[in-house]
Amino acid sequence: MATAFAFIELDERGQVTADAAEVVAGATRLGEPIAVVATDGDPAPVLARLGQVGATDVVIAHHPLATPATAVPAAAALLAAAADAATPPRAVVLPHTRCGREVAAHVALGLDGGLLTDVVDLVGGPEIRTTQAVLGGGWTTVAAVLSGPAVITVRPGSLPEVLPPAQPRVTRVRIDPDPRLIEEVQGVAPYAGVTSRPALRSASTVVAGGRGMASAGGFSLVERLADELGAAVGASRAAVDAGLAPRSAQVGQSGTTVSPDLYLALGISGAMQHLAGMSGAGTVVAVDLDPAAPIFDIADFGVVGDVTTVVPALIEALRSRRDGAR
Ligand code: FAD
Repeated sequence: MATAFAFIELDERGQVTADAAEVVAGATRLGEPIAVVATDGDPAPVLARLGQVGATDVVIAHHPLATPATAVPAAAALLAAAADAATPPRAVVLPHTRCGREVAAHVALGLDGGLLTDVVDLVGGPEIRTTQAVLGGGWTTVAAVLSGPAVITVRPGSLPEVLPPAQPRVTRVRIDPDPRLIEEVQGVAPYAGVTSRPALRSASTVVAGGRGMASAGGFSLVERLADELGAAVGASRAAVDAGLAPRSAQVGQSGTTVSPDLYLALGISGAMQHLAGMSGAGTVVAVDLDPAAPIFDIADFGVVGDVTTVVPALIEALRSRRDGAR
C-alpha cells in the first residue's frame, strides 16, 4: 500500500498542536500513514503525543534551525522523508494553518505534486478526492490530483475520526535546509485571547452567541452558560463584528470549524456561512426569537424565545440540578 505523509506542526513551546490527530487521521484515509516532524528540541514528548493520536510510523528530523512554526525546515523534513522512501508518498496531509499552508507550497513544488487547500473532507481509494466549501459555504467542489502526489491542507475541525493510540516506529532523517531561506523568529508573545475555557476547536461543548446577544445586553450570558457547562465560547461573525466577542471565537466559513458533541446557538440566525463551521456538531440546540430563523432547520432542539429569559432559566436549572446531585 502506498504511503501518505501527515505533517506534524509544533506550537511555540515545541509541543504537538491539536491538528495532529486530524492530519494523522486524514493520512490514514489515503494510505499507510507516516507522521513527519521537524524539531530543535527533545523528541520524546513529541513522540509520546503522536502515539496518543494514533501515529504508527513517525519520521523525525532534528535540526537546530527547526524552531516551531518555521516552514523551511519542516518542508525539508517532508522532502527528505519522501527521498528516503522506496516510493514517494501518494499524498501529504497538512493542517490549513499559516505554517501548514506555507509548508504545503514548498512540498508541492518539491515533489512536483498537486496542491489542494482548505479541504473539508477527503476520500482515498484508487483516486484521492477532496471536498472544498466555496462561495460562502453554499457550494462544495470535489477535486482530484491526477498526477504527482496530492498535497492537501485540511481545514482544522473538519475530520472527526479518532484513531486508537499506537506505539510509533521511529525513523530519523537528516535535513540540511538553507539557513538563508529560514524565517527568523524574533520573539514569541503569549496570545492575548488565551482563556481558561476549553479550546474552541476541540471542545466537546460549545456555547455560541450571535447578534441577538447585543439586544440581550452583551455576551455575558453566553459566557455564564459556557462556564456552567464547562464549554468553549463561540460567536457568529456578526457578533464579532459588533465587538461582542473576540475574532478568535468566530465559528464559520471564515472562522473556526467545530464539531462538538453539543452546540448551543443563542441569538444566531443560522446563515450558511455560520452553518459551514458547525454542521458537524452532534446535537444542536438553538434559542432565537424568530421561529423562521434557518438555525431551526438544522437544530435538534429549538426554543423560540428571548435569550434574556431562556438562558438565565437554563443556567438556573443546571445549577439546581448540580446542587441537587450533591
Ligand atoms: P443575524 O443574522 O442578525 O441573526 C441574529 C439573530 O438573533 C436573529 O435570528 C434574531 O431573531 C435573533 N435575536 C435577536 N434578539 C434576540 C433575543 N433577544 N433573543 C433571542 N434571539 C434574538 N458568519 C459567521 O457566523 N461565521 C463566518 O465564518 C462567516 N463568514 C462569512 C464569510 C463571508 C464571505 C460572508 C459574505 C459572510 C460570512 N458570515 C459569517 C456572515 C453571515 O453571512 C451572517 O451575516 C452572520 O452569520 C449572521 O450572524 P448572526 O446570526 O449572529 O446575526
